[in-house]
Amino acid sequence: MIPANDPLKLDADEMRQLGYKVVDMLVDYHQTIRDSHVVPPKESVELYAEALAEFQKEPRALDELLESVRDDVFANSMNLIHPRFFAYVPGPATFVSAMGEALAAGFNVFAGTTPHNLGPAKVERDTIRWLCDLAGLGESSGGLFVSGGSMASLTALYAAKVNRLNGKPEHARFYVSDQTHSCIERALSILGFSEAQLVTVRCDREFRMDPRALAEAVQSDRSKGHVPLCVIATAGTTNTGAIDPLEEIATIATTENLWMHVDAALGGPVLLSETDAHRLRGIERADSVAMDAHKWMFQSFECGICLVAEQDHLSDAYRRVPAYMRDTDSDIPNYRDLGPQVTRAFKAFKLWFSLQLYGERAFRMAVQKGIDQAGHAAGLIQAMPGWELVTKPSAGVLTFRYRGDHTDQDALNKANANIIAAMTASGFAFLSSTMLGEDYVIRLCPINPGLDGHDVAETLMRLDALAKGGLKTISTNSGQCKLSNRSQNT
Ligand SMILES: *Cc1c(COP(=O)(O)O)cnc(C)c1O
Repeated sequence: MIPANDPLKLDADEMRQLGYKVVDMLVDYHQTIRDSHVVPPKESVELYAEALAEFQKEPRALDELLESVRDDVFANSMNLIHPRFFAYVPGPATFVSAMGEALAAGFNVFAGTTPHNLGPAKVERDTIRWLCDLAGLGESSGGLFVSGGSMASLTALYAAKVNRLNGKPEHARFYVSDQTHSCIERALSILGFSEAQLVTVRCDREFRMDPRALAEAVQSDRSKGHVPLCVIATAGTTNTGAIDPLEEIATIATTENLWMHVDAALGGPVLLSETDAHRLRGIERADSVAMDAHKWMFQSFECGICLVAEQDHLSDAYRRVPAYMRDTDSDIPNYRDLGPQVTRAFKAFKLWFSLQLYGERAFRMAVQKGIDQAGHAAGLIQAMPGWELVTKPSAGVLTFRYRGDHTDQDALNKANANIIAAMTASGFAFLSSTMLGEDYVIRLCPINPGLDGHDVAETLMRLDALAKGGLKTISTNSGQCKLSNRSQNT
């Protein structure tokens, strides 16, 4: 006998209760984010080991479950929406994007096909169109939403391979700089290319790919019988936010018949900036562009975008029509034909929903604020005795370090690493580090639109105090009380 009841059914009241409570929790989280730690305190590692032992399989009461979810799961996570999350690239996702995500998930849209799905398909197309227009890509451009920047580049580089590879794959050569994100190397490795086929082009002193070095490398490879296939430029490197000279690279790409891919996962949104958009000039000549809306376009994870100058380049690479899919084959492109996924979440929706609700101008202002905060930070650092700005702000990133009276490089690197470790332990702000050549530098990426007028200044003051006052002061710092782990407050 098959029971008639649905074991997963909730009645309307239960659904509302669950929904309202989840929304309440999220509103509390967003409203009180400044009372939370930026990264969890160290002792959570032990909590984690303990908690791992339990896995309950019996149904739990909603209130108890939600409480535990808040205090055990989310309280022990990095708060990427915290304004003073300055590390890596922050994820300053808005509440609106979370609600957009909830709607897309709630309607369980299958964003792989367009027939019977024209509403969502139009939203995705319009949002892609908006991004293509921002980048200045022409009428036959297109693209699709993917999980993030790495997938966007992988999606594009496979299209490059299919459309441009002529002759033996092992002769192909790809050009990157030593500042290119590691996802590119990984993508090329997934696509079956060897490390030897990845040519690293020298950068100038500002960590931008040197176009002359690119031209020379291409020439030299041709003379050896290799086949230059693709150049990967970066608009906003992860290390320093450097924007490669896209126009000059585009000119070389045209002359040499290279596919030009631009990794704009970080810097793409600079296109929205009144003061800095011009620095991406040349991106309109790219064959493909990777962007990340889950970074500087304020969307929840995951939300990346692969744009191409010719949408056909994606369908040529990916389109397959098996018998079991013929019913949904269509004149309007199916998104499953533009990338490696068949079943796709409706990731475009949250960005579209946010744009509709806030309007484009609010996005422009929010991005501009990040650029202005980075400029403000640079000014403060230059005025701080003992500190030096290592790279100027670019795409919302700046790097700097404490010099003090260290002359020895090792000691200098160690001192800066200690400053960062102490700041992280304090819970006040989270900054990350990187290496530029042999130099350890501190990275600051102040792109959260919720930053107030003092956040950056106070963070720098505290770094200075850590550098000059010894590192012990911070762990008992009074400022930390406010920042304790939320689970300890309950
Ligand atoms: C973040 C980033 C990536 C990787 O994107 P994911 O969304 O993390 O996969 C690639 N390139 C650059 C320049 C980035 O900043």
